[in-house]
Amino acid sequence: SDARLGRITKAETTCNYCAVGCRFELYGKDGDVLGVRPADPEATPANDFSTCVKGKFGYDFVDSDDRLTTPLIREGEEFREASWEEAYERIYEELSSIQDQHGDDAVAVTSSSKCTNEENFLNQKFARQVLNTPHVDNCARLCHSSTVTGLKQTVGYGAMTNRINEDIGETDCYLVTGSNTTESHPVLATRIKQNARDGADLFVFDPREVGLAEHATQYTRTNPGEDIAWINGMIRYIIEQDLHDVEFIEERTNHFEELEEKVDPFTPEKVEELTGVSPEELTHAAETIAEADTCIFGWAMGMTQHAHGTRNVLALANLALVTGHIGKPGAGLSPFRGQNNVQGGGGDMGPAPHNLPGYQDQLDDDVADKFADAWGERPPQEIGLRLPEQFDAIVEGDIEGMYIMGENPVLSEPDIRGAEHALEDLDFLAVQDIFLTETAEFADVVLPAASAAEKSGTFTNTERRIQRVRPAIEPPGEARSDLRILCELAEHFGYEWEYDSPADVMDEIADLVPIYGGVSYDRLDEHTDGIQWPCEDADDPGTPYLYEEEFNFDDGKARFVPADYAGPVEMPDEEYPLMLTSGRVLYHWHTGTMTRRTQVSMDHVPESYVTIHPEMAEQLGVENGEYVRATSRRGDIVVKANVADVSDPGVVFIPMHFAQGAINELTQHELDPDSFIPEYKVTSVRIEPLGPD
Ligand code: SF4
Repeated sequence: SDARLGRITKAETTCNYCAVGCRFELYGKDGDVLGVRPADPEATPANDFSTCVKGKFGYDFVDSDDRLTTPLIREGEEFREASWEEAYERIYEELSSIQDQHGDDAVAVTSSSKCTNEENFLNQKFARQVLNTPHVDNCARLCHSSTVTGLKQTVGYGAMTNRINEDIGETDCYLVTGSNTTESHPVLATRIKQNARDGADLFVFDPREVGLAEHATQYTRTNPGEDIAWINGMIRYIIEQDLHDVEFIEERTNHFEELEEKVDPFTPEKVEELTGVSPEELTHAAETIAEADTCIFGWAMGMTQHAHGTRNVLALANLALVTGHIGKPGAGLSPFRGQNNVQGGGGDMGPAPHNLPGYQDQLDDDVADKFADAWGERPPQEIGLRLPEQFDAIVEGDIEGMYIMGENPVLSEPDIRGAEHALEDLDFLAVQDIFLTETAEFADVVLPAASAAEKSGTFTNTERRIQRVRPAIEPPGEARSDLRILCELAEHFGYEWEYDSPADVMDEIADLVPIYGGVSYDRLDEHTDGIQWPCEDADDPGTPYLYEEEFNFDDGKARFVPADYAGPVEMPDEEYPLMLTSGRVLYHWHTGTMTRRTQVSMDHVPESYVTIHPEMAEQLGVENGEYVRATSRRGDIVVKANVADVSDPGVVFIPMHFAQGAINELTQHELDPDSFIPEYKVTSVRIEPLGPD
């Protein structure tokens, strides 16, 4: 717990950047964050003593002069300061009036994976109980919704099956694809690098030669968006060579024959034609993976952010099942989740239009009755709109009011200009955040929230580990925790939520969400290394790795769900001859609201850029460091050229963190039909030098 050392305060807490979930001691004094120090190794299962640069030096955004310190209400083009009372009352009046005129589902709510589990639980409760709308969603839609959808269909839970340290850190073999792990999940990447140095085989398949490729047994360049083909090709080769795990397949899976049939066309020659992967590289990787005792399959948004993202994940799950590399130590399917709490807050807590907390089916009457017993009424029993659909619905006039907690869709939605027009069309927008974000600029009411350094709660990291978050300092000015804001707002709508602390909210979560059934703050304070779900009751120690005995289906068997081939939606043509892909850089985080206010990040990467292959730069007449225009069918941006040889000459890269030179001015609103994730990863563009003026 927090200890006071004079005026210096210390909190043992969890990093607020990525979902590796590093733990450390955060020090504060008089409202400023002083720094970070390693915590007791017993309490830091994901990171021991390590942190990356963001965890170690990335907390000065907390003290930024830009922090919101009072509620704001729009007057014409400007905002004026307001009291909490007035701001709440305005939100109540405006949302109620919209609902009276247009029906309850004319309002939508957005939750945030940056916030705690408890806050996300209350956010969806606010949507479902207080506003009675099914339209609640969050940014997990934009990163790993396809992972969740694909894994639920094949193995049962939409989550990493294994542990970071004991499994990722000690496996015999890796297939890492669509993940720039060294920059996006640095401490996790260190585990992989160390283990590869100690002899583990590391296969990196990616259109870009990412940092991890340097440590790989084999780096294989793939054509963007063509992953189903090479993964299906590996499966085909493994079966053809009798390298598949027949016993595992017979005892623990269903529908193998369907898989066999579906992968049959993907001969090594066909794979090479579609993906650029040579038969030698494909078969060597397939053989090594199949023959390894254990293998970890790691991926991130290079796999998920496609209009066929779910099928990419299905293909990877099929590969893990065919080789039997799941349900045992050192093996597993490892989506590297992005935001600090996207697994918990974005997924487990159910701020999602198609399931209740704990992935429970809102259409199931028993589930709905359980919630009705706790909340006095059933949550809406219909599937709501997913985030990108909500923006369409605004334009179509079906959604008139929106409540956004800790999200910045103006930068994170594909085709930003479309998102901006949608927000302008709204009758009423309330935003709850720590800064006046690009999205908050469109709001009618803005509420100042507390940062992760200023509040109590839990985050669930990418290995399903629920860990405590504790305040090192007080929020600035009148800022309040998202949890307190939601409780007070609910009260203005006539709902008495009786929580004295986040611990009380966790008790309600434990009552309603079976996979969190045994989680309590008492236990988390006792088990400083957190608890990995499923944890069904107070005697359950939690589940380090999933599926040891059974998969999460009634018959206990995993299901092969063959992945039909699909390629990118847009292919290069004469007008837009280059393929643009996107990603993160080590020093920044997501839409940059925090890291663009962090010294070390801005010192290293102060602005957006486009990485262009030297041959292409020469062909285009572009010099390193000069500004160029990138244009797609949706829009154009000006960014600095970074000439470097990391991909094929026809592929360019722009990071996703900047408001100036924002990549999502260019990306398209094409959605995966299964998970509704947008196709961020492949966009056709042209690049032109700006010329002398
Ligand atoms: Fe934070 Fe992730 Fe860096 Fe760990 S690896 S310190 S969780 S950003």
